[in-house]
Amino acid sequence: MTDATELKGKPLGPVPAGYEAVRGELAVSGMTASELVAMAGGTPLFVYSRDLIAKRIRSLRAAMPPQLSIHYAVKANPYSKLLEFIAGHVDGFDIASGGELAMVRDAGIPADRVSFAGPGKRDAELESAIACGATINLESESEGRRALSIADRIGQRPRLAIRVNPDFELRGSGMKMGGGAKPFGLDADRVPALARELLGAGAEWRGLHIFAGSQALSAAAVIEAQANTLNLAARLAEQIGAPLPHLNMGGGFGIPYFAGDMPLDISAVGAALGDALAQRAECLNETQFCIELGRYLVGEAGIYLTRIIDRKDSHGEVYLITDGGMHHQLAASGNFGTVVRRNYPVAIANRFAQAPAELAHVVGCLCTPLDRLADKAALPVAQEGDLVAVFCAGAYGATASPAQFLGQGPAREMLV
Ligand SMILES: *Cc1c(COP(=O)(O)O)cnc(C)c1O
Repeated sequence: MTDATELKGKPLGPVPAGYEAVRGELAVSGMTASELVAMAGGTPLFVYSRDLIAKRIRSLRAAMPPQLSIHYAVKANPYSKLLEFIAGHVDGFDIASGGELAMVRDAGIPADRVSFAGPGKRDAELESAIACGATINLESESEGRRALSIADRIGQRPRLAIRVNPDFELRGSGMKMGGGAKPFGLDADRVPALARELLGAGAEWRGLHIFAGSQALSAAAVIEAQANTLNLAARLAEQIGAPLPHLNMGGGFGIPYFAGDMPLDISAVGAALGDALAQRAECLNETQFCIELGRYLVGEAGIYLTRIIDRKDSHGEVYLITDGGMHHQLAASGNFGTVVRRNYPVAIANRFAQAPAELAHVVGCLCTPLDRLADKAALPVAQEGDLVAVFCAGAYGATASPAQFLGQGPAREMLV
């Protein structure tokens, strides 16, 4: 064993707040990792915490202006029990497919709380959204016309909003969704004409959706994007010449995944948004405002537990080989749009109270060098049978990873 201070591996991301050791083990809602795995019947296992989700939403609401609604972006985590739970805590749901529409309907969420964005909506998806009364955020003129004709055919007044491809971007965001040519939304200068066409056709006008990016940790960048969003919405509302009932301001609030990442300062964001709303243009006086967040609400509230099957040595380096991997944790493996692979926060869950004592590679059980969960991580000495926890697993884990790769199949999931 080496003195922990000499362990110069690749740093791990920061363990999110709210995780503690109980009897030396990582615990969620008071239950240790071993107990959780026993309850679920085995590994690999995603565990999501009700308590951490509720706390996150409470502190977010406390920081944001009171008139701001908070929507959940279902694609971050559509696990049915999580959807049912979060429905009691958020004001609305943003979905991106007919499949997600079915999931929110199955979770008992009323369609008037649902809005449907996303490119390439099929006729059948538009029809089911119109039939149940969900709002559709139109991504193009042709989609708008298809929605109007489907609504006409089924004799239902459609609730329609327009997604705008903004003429600015969210600086420093992990995934840019605005600025320049994009498959998402309608270029800003084409929005007024389509809005007038929808109004003329008798659709229920639901306003605008402006989403500029994801995974921003800089309050200054979020504040700037929100100010740009309000200005763009005001300009478009003037040009449309009708009151704007609703403005979905996007989100993009990020969470720390990697060493050196600092949490987003939501009190700064909330204060600036409060000021911006207080000074908004007159044409936005009657507008309801919302933000839509995925990973910020649930990402840090989930862990992924996997068991060490084999401990081996190669050229003097330790490999901990687990029964999980990239097929459930594509993002943590570094294969979800990252250029340089960095380590997510990872721990030996049943030795959570022990200090690091060696450098080890944590890998999955897939036969590919892409299947890595942590490189050269400073960890307590782990043995076969121990449990590895990957943090920040509450968003873009189970359903954003190729579970069928190499015939592995899905992980277990539980909400505690
Ligand atoms: C993916 C997505 C979100 C959620 O993004 P997060 O980074 O998880 O908050 C919100 N809105 C739209 C339109 C999206 O495509």
